[in-house]
Amino acid sequence: MPVHDVLRRKLNLKRQKAFCKKLMQQQIDAGGRVLFEHPSPSCYWDDPDFGRWCDELYSFVMHMCCFDLHVPAHGDKPKRLIRKSTCLLCTHADMCSLRQKCPGASHPDHREHRQVSGSEPTIGQVSTHAGRYTPEFVRAVLDTAPRFCNPSDACNVPLMIASCPIKRCLRL
Ligand SMILES: [Zn+2]
Repeated sequence: MPVHDVLRRKLNLKRQKAFCKKLMQQQIDAGGRVLFEHPSPSCYWDDPDFGRWCDELYSFVMHMCCFDLHVPAHGDKPKRLIRKSTCLLCTHADMCSLRQKCPGASHPDHREHRQVSGSEPTIGQVSTHAGRYTPEFVRAVLDTAPRFCNPSDACNVPLMIASCPIKRCLRL
């Protein structure tokens, strides 16, 4: 990759990180809810501010296969779950219901997982496919938001932040 592309990517990452941190701090200062997600192995978790929030708030690793992230069946290949280890950072204890871990080989659907690499005829690049939220994960996130659980608590506006791209930042 050319040097100028590497520098451009680094600059974009720095801007995205600053944007996420600004939004998170605003929401926390307002007493609202924040959910930040990013893959477990990520430079975000080495950032001092995220490190501090991980100590002060609720952070944990979960697996997206528990929310039906998968490659669909194709030809003679069956549906294959994608484990995708993801770290979540949440402001409220009741959001820890999202802490779902892969049951592993003891469960027949989780004996093997599709790696997040390469491509598949039905979905294209597996990494792009795995970057989307499944309906099951979105439902589970919404279920943690009091606004959707309890209509009388509509003043507590939740904020969900995915680190990139910016369009994945949702104010609900
Ligand atoms: Zn699994």
